[in-house]
Amino acid sequence: MRALITGGAGFIGSHLAEELLRRGHWVTVIDDLSTGSVENIKHLKQDAHFHYVIDSIFNSSVLAELVDSAETVFHLAAAVGVKLIVECPIRTIETNVKGTELVLEMAAKKKRPVLIASTSEVYGKSSKERFCESDDLVLGPTSKSRWSYAASKALDEFLALAYWHEKNLPVIITRLFNTVGPRQTGRYGMVVPRFIQQALQNQPMTVYGSGEQTRSFTWVGDVVEALIALMETSHAVGEIFNVGHRETTTILDLAKLTKRLTQSDSPIQLVPYEEAYGAGFEDMLHRVPDITKIEKLIGYKPSKTLSEMLERIIADQRIRIESGWSC
Ligand code: UDP
Repeated sequence: MRALITGGAGFIGSHLAEELLRRGHWVTVIDDLSTGSVENIKHLKQDAHFHYVIDSIFNSSVLAELVDSAETVFHLAAAVGVKLIVECPIRTIETNVKGTELVLEMAAKKKRPVLIASTSEVYGKSSKERFCESDDLVLGPTSKSRWSYAASKALDEFLALAYWHEKNLPVIITRLFNTVGPRQTGRYGMVVPRFIQQALQNQPMTVYGSGEQTRSFTWVGDVVEALIALMETSHAVGEIFNVGHRETTTILDLAKLTKRLTQSDSPIQLVPYEEAYGAGFEDMLHRVPDITKIEKLIGYKPSKTLSEMLERIIADQRIRIESGWSC
């Protein structure tokens, strides 16, 4: 396939590009480097099947040309990371809403299938033990900017499904649950790279709130394999899929496990949410996916335990720290 990846210099996008190239596909990446980095794709530049364009998806003439020469579009360009979202809500809303609108509009003109990377964040404050694709979304008030991310992504989903129903544009929606792996940066708040970096540098490990909140972490390699498999089956069109892991951990236990695996002397420090994200911040207490739907369709199966994922990322971060690369 000839794939266009928006946000392809980001953490997940660069892994997707790598995997598609490994399978012999052609890949073009467009990225404005707002949160992505050329570092993430520099090892791909030698591949004759790889092209990249440093530009914004808001540059509609460039986007139109790239969509035209692609056969499929993986739309991953988005505002990412709770820290960024809380600090820059206008950018979050505009990037997510206008960006997706443009991608869908261009793809519809050329009838190019589009896979949209949405997020588990759309489930919001739901107290369900496991989130299922057909569940209600339970968002907090608009006065709390965190929820603008979920609302903007939910709008992306509505829009994508509307393009499918009204214009027959093949779309696939994936809700990603806390993806982790090498090259993820802790700069925008993501907990795993932050804890590993703190532990490796013997700095305090900052557990926000009580640390009793839970998350399920998914290996980036599993995520990109799932995205490709979904794009390759016509049965995924017009559907929403959770992409995640059943194993769940509290954030406090994650800190303890990271500390043990890195053999770090770092103290574990509880930091109130208002200190981390400002007054009135609301966290999601639990977030675990029901992955039955994607399992049934493509035989998706998470390949690694949390410890295995952490060990791989720790090894990668040790190399990066030694080579002076900032995480
Ligand atoms: N978190 C933490 N310490 C950090 C960064 C994050 O305790 O340095 C917590 C955060 O409050 C949340 C969880 O870890 O409960 C996962 O945070 P992340 O930003 O990685 O993803 P989220 O699931 O919130 O989108």
